[in-house]
Amino acid sequence: FENGDKMPALGLGTWKSAKGEVYKAVREAINIGYRHFDCALLYGNEDEIGEALNDSQLDHEVKREELWITSKLWNNAHKHEHILPNIKTSLRNLKLEYLDLYLIHWPVVLRPDVIFPAKGEDLASLKDVSLTETWNGMIELKEMGLTKHIGVSNFSIKKINALIVETGVKPEMNQVEMHPYFQQTELLDFCNSNGILMTAYAPLGSTDRPENRKTAGEPLLFDDETIKSIALRNNISSAQVMLAWAVARGTSPIPKSVHYQRLQDNLAAGDIKLSDSDINEINNLNKNYRYIKGDFWCLPGSDYTLQNLWDEQ
Ligand code: NDP
Repeated sequence: FENGDKMPALGLGTWKSAKGEVYKAVREAINIGYRHFDCALLYGNEDEIGEALNDSQLDHEVKREELWITSKLWNNAHKHEHILPNIKTSLRNLKLEYLDLYLIHWPVVLRPDVIFPAKGEDLASLKDVSLTETWNGMIELKEMGLTKHIGVSNFSIKKINALIVETGVKPEMNQVEMHPYFQQTELLDFCNSNGILMTAYAPLGSTDRPENRKTAGEPLLFDDETIKSIALRNNISSAQVMLAWAVARGTSPIPKSVHYQRLQDNLAAGDIKLSDSDINEINNLNKNYRYIKGDFWCLPGSDYTLQNLWDEQ
């Protein structure tokens, strides 16, 4: 980050990490050496993660200043008056006095009483609650010291540019889906040239996302012959191939797991150096294939379409 703060490149994702298992996963992760945790109010498990973070500190396994904790503002709290209460809820859940990074989770607005939309009326328009209003609220949270850094998630070049033009303050991070089948090189180049860091979500293809968000016959990273052969050649796992590639291109992958062996495997990938030819082979795998499609926001009667969500053709 521009002030010299360093975020560990490899972090632990926590979406879908169920209550009852996430406490153990976070404690194990800290013992293995994870210091970066990716959380969100929406994931519904921040309180249990907070217990684990707190107990690890009480047991002198880690100090607060060694941890990097990210959380995200949910879509139903984009209005100015809801932003401060939203971060306070996450801080209370996580048992923290400050976050290291707070992100606008999606460029999408839900009505305040809606957690996930079932129909068009559950969504509100960006014309009524603008991303600029929300970004100004995020800037205030940083000024108040409630978060060290602020950024966005699922934002396009167009939307980031608009924030910069309207507020003069650039997001420090953009967290988006990125993996060998969805490399997002244009967005990565744009962020690199503007001094915006990038976090890669679903770096392993989000194989455990809900069934209703999967498409029949979709390409699976773990079945990819090129990835499998690079793994075999280097005597590492397929997951490590994907994660080492993500780190090599300067992004921060946040694989989710609740299994000890995988937690270890995934963190160790941060120290694996792939050869240039391996990296080139992976660079050639791009299919522009998005697993997290965002179609769940594009309900009839709302303002949202896949075109105006991603600003792609
Ligand atoms: P991932 O790509 O991290 O995949 C997670 C799946 O991979 C789980 O089923 C996990 O299983 C499995 N897995 C983990 N490690 C291995 C391994 N070494 N070998 C084989 N399988 C493995 O998907 P996510 O969707 O969870 O994305 C990662 C994180 O990114 C999320 O948890 C969340 O924090 C963030 N995210 C942010 C979004 C946003 O809108 N900002 C959207 C989506 C994700 P198991 O747990 O059983 O080991």
